[in-house]
Amino acid sequence: FSPEVNTSFGEAIADQVLRQAAERLQSILRTSDTLSHFGGTHFAMVLADVHDEREVASFIQRVARAFAEPIPVEKLGVRVEVASGIALYPNDGDDIDTLLLYAGSARAQVQEASGVGYQFHTAGLHQRTLERLNREAALYQALERDEFVLYFQPQLNLSSQRVTGVEAVLRWQHPEWGLQTPDRFIDILEDTGLIVDVGDWVIGQACREVRDLPLAVSVNLSPRQFRHPDLANRILHILRKAQFPADRLELELTERLFMDDPQQIIRVLKELRDCGIQSSIDDYGTGYCSLQYLKQLPINVLKIDRAFIETLVDDRADQAIVRSTIELCHTLGIGVVAEGVEDRQTLEKLVALGCDMAQGYYLSRPLPMDQLLARLDEGVFQFE
Ligand code: C2E
Ligand code: MG
Ligand code: MG
Repeated sequence: FSPEVNTSFGEAIADQVLRQAAERLQSILRTSDTLSHFGGTHFAMVLADVHDEREVASFIQRVARAFAEPIPVEKLGVRVEVASGIALYPNDGDDIDTLLLYAGSARAQVQEASGVGYQFHTAGLHQRTLERLNREAALYQALERDEFVLYFQPQLNLSSQRVTGVEAVLRWQHPEWGLQTPDRFIDILEDTGLIVDVGDWVIGQACREVRDLPLAVSVNLSPRQFRHPDLANRILHILRKAQFPADRLELELTERLFMDDPQQIIRVLKELRDCGIQSSIDDYGTGYCSLQYLKQLPINVLKIDRAFIETLVDDRADQAIVRSTIELCHTLGIGVVAEGVEDRQTLEKLVALGCDMAQGYYLSRPLPMDQLLARLDEGVFQFE
């Protein structure tokens, strides 16, 4: 199971939390049981000498009690949420890999549902595990089978009232399952490491499709891609091959990334900037990136998450947040994009608040480039 540590505190503190979590687990174990750290915030336990499911359930409740008190680290109390998945020998499988797989998928269910609690493996879950394995197997072949395509969503410059950029988003056209959106496959690409090659393809393809247009292009970069060695040089190589100028490419980094070692991230961002490549923070406001931190980051653009934009027109608090974020960014020389603009009033509010760019269904859903160009030709984005 996995005490999910909110690692927004940074690696050193997260490490202490994990260490103390392990000690608490150790303290409830009997001598016949085994505990192992399973990577990340995941632990695996083997309980020997168990007679029925009830016994396991009461053990798990003891675990929950062990985490009732917050873990003290550096004057903070860190509350740990425990999500557990359980597989039983020999009912669910008779080798350790099968048992771990099923326990893991049961745990994932718990996390999706409520985040805390426990669940036994059931046959229904088995189905989901198999589906995921099938998707994973198909993804290994998707790149060479040319099944990935890019859709583009326009970004409207609010002062010139023109579309000056597009964001490329990935789609997977599976011959049997049809068009798949990223929520169905990005995490699998991440987990398997396939994201590195697919990500390179995304950058190259986006550049090729946009090259002859008067537009900048943003692509999304996953944390794993960002951490891959020699990022700047790899991208320069792709740019050269696509004959695309570096300053028209923007890399979107999610806030999740900023849980990592800040100095390392700042170093890579500087390298990118020195190559002339732009970078932005995506989904800003959903997690980990503090305003204090923002000051140190060599980024060009900040994209305010849809959550704040959806309710902007009616919610005074969101207006205040968006207004002060825009002011701060402008002081720091950072441009601001509002994501998820779905209606005209929101767009007008953003103009009034001094936002630089807007993106969202009100202007257009992401579309294949030829369809997007047809809409641009019709002049549908004029809004004055
Ligand atoms: P994102 O980068 O924040 O992209 C915006 C997502 O919000 C897109 O979903 C887009 O279709 C959706 N969206 C845009 N405007 C609106 C709106 O007005 N209302 C609502 N409700 N939604 C809107 P999509 O294409 O499903 O992508 C989801 C996420 O998957 C992206 O979020 C991005 O984090 C990730 N992603 C997409 N393509 C790639 C890629 O090539 N590489 C990586 N690593 N991640 C990608
Ligand atoms: Mg994005
Ligand atoms: Mg976003």
